[in-house]
Amino acid sequence: MSPRARREVLADRLAEEGAPDVALGGNGPGADTHPARPRSEGPGPGPRPVDPIAVPAEEADDAGLRPRTLSEFVGQGQLTEHLRIVIEAALKRKQTADHLLFAGPPGLGKTSLAGIVASEMGAGFRITSGPVLVRAGDLAALLTDLQDGDVLFIDEIHRLHRSVEEILYPAMEDFKLDILIGKGPTARSIRLDLPRFTLVGATTRTGLVAGPLRDRFGFVGRLDLYDVDELQTIVTRSAGILGVPVDEDGARRIAERSRGTPRIANRLLRRVRDFVEVRAEGTITSGAAVEGLDVFGVDELGLDKVDRAILDVLCRRFAGRPVGLSTLAQCVGEEPDTIEDAYEPYLLQQGLLQRTARGRVAAPRAWAHLGLSPVESTLL
Ligand code: ADP
Repeated sequence: MSPRARREVLADRLAEEGAPDVALGGNGPGADTHPARPRSEGPGPGPRPVDPIAVPAEEADDAGLRPRTLSEFVGQGQLTEHLRIVIEAALKRKQTADHLLFAGPPGLGKTSLAGIVASEMGAGFRITSGPVLVRAGDLAALLTDLQDGDVLFIDEIHRLHRSVEEILYPAMEDFKLDILIGKGPTARSIRLDLPRFTLVGATTRTGLVAGPLRDRFGFVGRLDLYDVDELQTIVTRSAGILGVPVDEDGARRIAERSRGTPRIANRLLRRVRDFVEVRAEGTITSGAAVEGLDVFGVDELGLDKVDRAILDVLCRRFAGRPVGLSTLAQCVGEEPDTIEDAYEPYLLQQGLLQRTARGRVAAPRAWAHLGLSPVESTLL
């Protein structure tokens, strides 16, 4: 069945279902734009400089910095090696690549890798995200609009609705779409053929993806936080694309403060670029990078004002005693969810904070970072 015929059958079905918000093709839920994602706001205007989640205004800039090929993609050596094999084998067989699932924290390159798979396969690329696909019809419209060989990227795939997920199973396994025509006793199900496509799913944690869905991926790749050398390479590469002169030490200072995350590295680079442009210094040197990041409140561990406020509450105000999440949130003027999702993971990962059964506690490294000694401060 041609894509047009598939769309017509589906359009009839959706008209019966009364789903006026579903666009077939064009700017529907699969439009080639990155879906807006929830983000945490920092203190003052604008997003936190160290927030790993993209803000909509940044996405156009991000697109220019995205690596386009596996060889441009810095780091994640083992994962890229495996992907190279998956892609080459598929090209050799003249088939689509297996469905792929990428897991890892935001800003590490999952969307970029999905785009790379499409370009290395010479295939079309469609982007959508789990929460955008509200009804089964949304996904059905997107699937019937695919071209042979396309790569379909579903970000936050763990947030797909159950009814939408069920459409995905036969689509992934047999490239079929089951549609129910009519209602009540006369209802009948028809199967439409879909073009062969590669689904690339992204999730922050594989554990969040339902077992039956996870099992349908032929390959699961985990992305790890980047080390400083890799981030320095990314900063240098991005500076080249943006036409910003940066020396080795300048790139290093930015890399050190990027919390292991390329998206943060690129954002800090843009902030420092603004700083050196205003100061008319031209090149990003070590001194300019440190000064610029100080202005934006980002310290040598990549902590911002709220991160430090959290540690300060634990060390000074509560003198090292365990503090409950809601109390901590109140003390720093944030929502408990924001503390848990946006601030805590990095503080935990850096060994600055510990979670205990009785509450959050500052780790020895936090005292040292604030220039305090635990003994001295418990006397405060
Ligand atoms: P995710 O989908 O995991 O949130 P993205 O793929 O959107 O992450 O990456 C965020 C930004 O970081 C991209 O714009 C890209 O420029 C940059 N980036 C991510 N990974 C790499 C990498 N390995 N090499 C170079 N740049 C990268």
